[in-house]
Amino acid sequence: MKAIISGAGIAGLSAALFLRRKGWDIEVIEKAPGLRAAGYVVDFFGSGYDAAERAGLLPALAAKKVPVTRISYVNQDDTERSVLDYGQFAASLDGRLMGLARGDIERVLYDAVADHISIHYGTSISTIDNRDDGVSVRLENGETLSGDLLIGADGIHSRVRELVFGPEENFIRFLGYHTAAFVIDDAELNRELDGVFRILSVPDRQVGIYDAGEAGLTVFFAHKAASEARPADKAAALRKTYGDLGWHLPALLDAADRCDDIYYDTISQIEMDRWHDKRCVLIGDAAYAVSLLAGQGASLAMGGAYILGEQVGDGDVERGLAQFEAQMMEDVKAKQAAGRKTANWFVPPTGFHNMVRDLFLNVTRLPMFSFLMNRFFAPSTKSLIH
Ligand SMILES: Cc1cc2nc3c(=O)[nH]c(=O)nc-3n(C[C@H](O)[C@H](O)[C@H](O)COP(=O)(O)OP(=O)(O)OC[C@H]3O[C@@H](n4cnc5c(N)ncnc54)[C@H](O)[C@@H]3O)c2cc1C
Repeated sequence: MKAIISGAGIAGLSAALFLRRKGWDIEVIEKAPGLRAAGYVVDFFGSGYDAAERAGLLPALAAKKVPVTRISYVNQDDTERSVLDYGQFAASLDGRLMGLARGDIERVLYDAVADHISIHYGTSISTIDNRDDGVSVRLENGETLSGDLLIGADGIHSRVRELVFGPEENFIRFLGYHTAAFVIDDAELNRELDGVFRILSVPDRQVGIYDAGEAGLTVFFAHKAASEARPADKAAALRKTYGDLGWHLPALLDAADRCDDIYYDTISQIEMDRWHDKRCVLIGDAAYAVSLLAGQGASLAMGGAYILGEQVGDGDVERGLAQFEAQMMEDVKAKQAAGRKTANWFVPPTGFHNMVRDLFLNVTRLPMFSFLMNRFFAPSTKSLIH
C-alpha cells in the first residue's frame, strides 16, 4: 500500500510515521524548501502525548522539553499580576504534559521517519485524480505520483481540501483574532527573562516571550482583529497593532523587522461534516483546526494521524476512513466549541476580564482551590486515543 501525503508539518510527518510502521510506502510533498524552526511553544498533552508514547517518541521529545515552571502574566512595567503554575497544570494531567517548541516536534518526527520515506520539498499538488480504487496527483514541478490514499495534511489553508472538497470559505470560521510568532536570538533579553514565561496582557492584546533554550527565544502575539485578511507585511502589521506599548515591545518589534520567518495567521477553525472522499482524507488543521484558543492543534495533529494509521493500516481503506471519522468527529467538535468559549480567557477584552482571569489563576494556586483548575481544563484536554 502507498500513501501520498501533502504537508510535512506535525500531522503529515506523524501520518508518515504511523503508516510506515504498518508497512506502507510513503511519499510526502511539502511546499517549503525544508524543515522550519518557526512557531511557538506548545502545550503537548492528550491525544498527541498518547500517540507519541505509542510511537516510542517520548524520550526524544522529553530531551527537547522546555523547562517551563510558571507562566507569569505581567503589566507593561513588568510587575506580575497573576501566575499559572505549570507544575499544577501538569499535575491536573497526571504529569502527561510537555512544553515543546513547535519546530522541535517537527524535528523529532522527521528524525524518526525521514530515512524511510521520500519527501519532495519545494513543490505542491496542482491537480488530483481521486478514484474509488486509488489516487493520482500532479505536482507543480511536473512530476506525477500515484497511490492508494492521498492524505491532505497541509494545514489550515489546505490545498488538498480546496481541490477535493471546495473553497476555504465554505469551511473556515474566523474567531476574530490574529496571531503571530517567531524565534529570535537575544542573549540580553534571555538573561532578563531568567527562565520565566512572561505574558503581557492588555485588553484585546497579548504578547508572550519565553526562552526555549536551544530552540531560541520564542515570541508570540495574539490580538483582536476585525478582518480575516492576512497582512502582506507581517512585521508592519505587528508594529501597527503593538507599537504604542512599552515593556519589551520596542525590542521585539525591531526583531520582527529583521526576521524573515514570521508565522502570522488568523485565529480560525475548520469545520467539516466529513473529512474523506473516495481515496482522499484530510487530517490535522486541514480537517479540524481547533485554533490557538483551544490550545491543542499540535496534539490533535499527531493524535489524529495515529488514529488514521490504526484504522487504515491494514489496507481496508474504505472501512478505515469511515472509522477514523467516527472515532474523532464528535470529540473534535466538542473541543472546537470549548475553544470558542475560552476567547475572553485567552485574550481578555477589557481590564475587568483581565482581573477575573488574574483572580482565577491566583485563587486556584491555593491548594484548597486547585480542584477548580482540574475542572476548568479537564473537559478539553481529554485524549481521543483509548
Ligand atoms: C512554520 C510554522 C509555524 C507555526 N507557528 C504557529 C504558531 O506560532 N502558533 C499557532 O497557533 N500555530 C502555529 N502553526 C500551526 C501549528 O503548527 C498547527 O496548528 C498544528 O501543529 C497542526 O499541524 P498541521 O500539521 O495540521 O498543520 P501545519 O503545522 O500548518 O503544517 C502544514 C504543513 O503543510 C505545508 N503546506 C501548506 N500548504 C501546502 C501545499 N499547498 N503543498 C504542500 N505542503 C503545504 C506547510 O508548509 C506545513 O509544513 C505553525 C505552523 C507552521 C508550519
